[in-house]
Amino acid sequence: MSVVSSIQSDVDLSSYNTFALAAKAKHFVELKHAEDINELIAWAGSKQLPWMVIGGGSNLLLLEDFSGLVIVNKLRGIEVSEDADCYTIKAAAGEDWHQFVQWTVKQGMPGLENLALIPGTVGASPVQNIGAYGIELADVCSEVEFYSLLTNSMQTLSSKQCKFAYRDSIFKAQLKDQVIISKVTFKLSKSWLAKRDYGGLQLLAEGVSAQTVFEEVCRMRISKLPDPKILGNAGSFFKNPLVSQEHLSSLLTRYPEMPNYPASNGQAKLAAGWLIDKLGLKGYSIGGAAVHQDQALVLVNKANAKASDLLALCRHIRQQVWQSFNVLLQPEVRFITHSGEIEPSTVLGRPDAAE
Ligand SMILES: Cc1cc2nc3c(=O)[nH]c(=O)nc-3n(C[C@H](O)[C@H](O)[C@H](O)COP(=O)(O)OP(=O)(O)OC[C@H]3O[C@@H](n4cnc5c(N)ncnc54)[C@H](O)[C@@H]3O)c2cc1C
Repeated sequence: MSVVSSIQSDVDLSSYNTFALAAKAKHFVELKHAEDINELIAWAGSKQLPWMVIGGGSNLLLLEDFSGLVIVNKLRGIEVSEDADCYTIKAAAGEDWHQFVQWTVKQGMPGLENLALIPGTVGASPVQNIGAYGIELADVCSEVEFYSLLTNSMQTLSSKQCKFAYRDSIFKAQLKDQVIISKVTFKLSKSWLAKRDYGGLQLLAEGVSAQTVFEEVCRMRISKLPDPKILGNAGSFFKNPLVSQEHLSSLLTRYPEMPNYPASNGQAKLAAGWLIDKLGLKGYSIGGAAVHQDQALVLVNKANAKASDLLALCRHIRQQVWQSFNVLLQPEVRFITHSGEIEPSTVLGRPDAAE
């Protein structure tokens, strides 16, 4: 039976995005076999419809109904091989990220434990180079396999070719909207050492097991972050901003306690959550959307929020942060309109443009 016959119409996406925003997909299909990608893309092309692939919908802001085909990645399967130095694990893109991490730790293949409890799928993990507790996907990923619309064939990029950077990769730049990731390959070293130089992990004893790190990361995340199943959210709404050393120096004269970290190209990274918190915006709400009470970087769907509430809240935060710190916050969350992803500033405006 052709996969096209399983395409559904007018599907409610509220359970397919962790903000739980009500938006519909004109057409909707679950992708279970990589061989079907070609046919689905051709179907959308023949009807001149936009298409979009999603995983767990945990990094999306659905601004309105989507007029094309939403492809939900359900590709499953994990293959493991090993040599004297490392385990090589190929995971299909539709595998649940957290369950995959938990499985590797249980199998005695450490290396992913710091990335526990990040919602979403394996296939989305290279897109924004997910990171937490001192590790990024770039540290453990060796290859990404995908269907390319440029060549209408499956292709593989090495980790280096993926151009991973802070919450960024080639899949958000040159290959944006051009690929459906089908598999991610991980190389996990057998000479593993726990990475515990970040946040609360510093308290763990030397020689700690991967299972203990995994449990500690889960414990800390549960205590800090709202569970999207209970309170709709998409994790960190903004990226941590990068500023020049001159800018940092002038900020530090006014706010000596401001957290800052060295970044590439001699820049400094600031903590977006700290900036928002400093302005007293925790708990601030517009309509049904609010800044989380405890985590200033997380915007939540407090009470039947509309996308417009979240947009207004986001705009307000950007304006306040710009006025006080001369720093422009960039959303980490992807903004999706009826025809696909848009650059957030097209709907948010730019507070810096008014000057
Ligand atoms: C409570 C919470 C905590 C979070 N914590 C973190 C964190 O610590 N670190 C972090 O980095 N992120 C974090 N996130 C963000 C999010 O979980 C990650 O970005 C995750 O990788 C998104 O996966 P997803 O499957 O839900 O992607 P989706 O939201 O479905 O999609 C995100 C983007 O990736 C694209 N995409 C998805 N699958 C594919 C594919 N197979 N091929 C091509 N493109 C694809 C989509 O088109 C979209 O542009 C958090 C989110 C929440 C809700």
